[in-house]
Amino acid sequence: MTASFHAELYKLIPEDHPLRKINEIVDFTFIHDLVRSSYCEHYGRPANEPELLFRLLFLQVLYNLSDERIIQETQVNLAYKWFLGVNPEDNLPDPSQLSRFRNHRLGAGAVDEVLISVVRQCIEKGLVKSKTIIMDSTHTLAASQKQKPLEVLRDAAKRLFRVVVKKHPKLEKKLPKLPGLRKEDQEDAEKIMLQYLANLGETVELLLPDHEGSISEKVRIAKAIVEDERLLANKGIMSAIDPDARFGWKSNTKSFFGYKEHIAMTEEEIITAVEVTEGSSDDGKQFKELLNQTLDAGIEVHEVIADTAYSGKDNLEEMKSKQIQPVVPLNPIVHNGGLRQEGFEYNKDADFVICPAGQHSIRKAVQGSKQSGNSRSLVFYFDTEKCKACPLKEGCFKPGAKSKTYSIRIVAEHYQEQIEFEKSDTFKERICRRPIIEHKNAELKRYHGMTKAKYRGLFRMRIQAILTTFVVNVKRMIKLTEKMQSAS
Ligand code: SF4
Repeated sequence: MTASFHAELYKLIPEDHPLRKINEIVDFTFIHDLVRSSYCEHYGRPANEPELLFRLLFLQVLYNLSDERIIQETQVNLAYKWFLGVNPEDNLPDPSQLSRFRNHRLGAGAVDEVLISVVRQCIEKGLVKSKTIIMDSTHTLAASQKQKPLEVLRDAAKRLFRVVVKKHPKLEKKLPKLPGLRKEDQEDAEKIMLQYLANLGETVELLLPDHEGSISEKVRIAKAIVEDERLLANKGIMSAIDPDARFGWKSNTKSFFGYKEHIAMTEEEIITAVEVTEGSSDDGKQFKELLNQTLDAGIEVHEVIADTAYSGKDNLEEMKSKQIQPVVPLNPIVHNGGLRQEGFEYNKDADFVICPAGQHSIRKAVQGSKQSGNSRSLVFYFDTEKCKACPLKEGCFKPGAKSKTYSIRIVAEHYQEQIEFEKSDTFKERICRRPIIEHKNAELKRYHGMTKAKYRGLFRMRIQAILTTFVVNVKRMIKLTEKMQSAS
């Protein structure tokens, strides 16, 4: 950029402005390499455009603003414009360019590298000394409302019908019409609508075998809804607009509808890995991915601190094979290898078992005394009234049975070493470090918009999560650098 006469105004920005520090300490040029394969510099695109758009995304997350608001604010904010490297009188890109860059350029595969690059910058600057990572998960509410099964089906059908007619008006007469439900149909309304959605999806595929873009997207959603066994039990897809969002549990009594972010971070509070899943997913299953992302970023890991959800047999074995010390309290349900019957899942936040139909156990009991050793079991009880009406009861619930239970045998001695370690002072002292990750989760939510999804779908939620962790890492990087400079 050639500085214009108006660039003199930038002298008004205080020397200690946070954006000046960020600009001095953080290298944003890595973004050019990341988006090169998905970016066209021809046809008049300025060579520095990727960095300018990425810096705009950075400001957007830092100040928690929408696509439109960040452009409006930057237009009149000297510090923002200076940070972008443009002249005060220069125009800014259209907000739609920002979302295209985020979804098509970054989302096309480079987004994971965004986090890795900031972690590597921290390592190069000597800011990461600890060989410990702490893992945890947090949740984000979906951008859309929860719907009842009939609304999901009707909405998905209307959206598919509308998009096909908009692009191919001549096909309107060939598509099956939305059934008008009469009063006497109400009981079977969901089944009628399910049949209609399946029929509509098949007709579209037949009429438009090479469909693409928004039609393909709506066909994919229709198929997922039709094939979702939990839909009618009100436990599966709950939004035709955001079918990836799921119902999850924060505790025994509190639930949410949305997504989960699983994160790993160092003791210096630098986030090294992020995985985004639907709200109902199991935290422990993300362990390997978080560990591998952390190792790939160049962090040496000698110790993992996490809660009981990560004490699964596979996770403990993985740590043992890599000579990593688990500072993870054991939970008999998790560390005995999880649940054996397919479709049943244990939720450690709520401490209940969820069955394939999405119902959760209503109470639990321990069977057998401590003296009986390996014959002790944890028994979870389900509501038989729900089982009687369950569409998946075949092979699960015998008609006339007085109870429906799920038992987990408590086997202690396989983990004797870990049980002994759990009693040690070292364990007690190290596990006290775990809450610092909860503060990090709170920062992501309170200041950077992770309480609620800004966009719909797992793909966009993932981009939001990674950009947000990039920003909080940059904030932390500045603090750690200043601390290091003042100590030397
Ligand atoms: S029969 Fe009962 S436990 Fe089995 S899937 Fe249905 S509701 Fe769940």
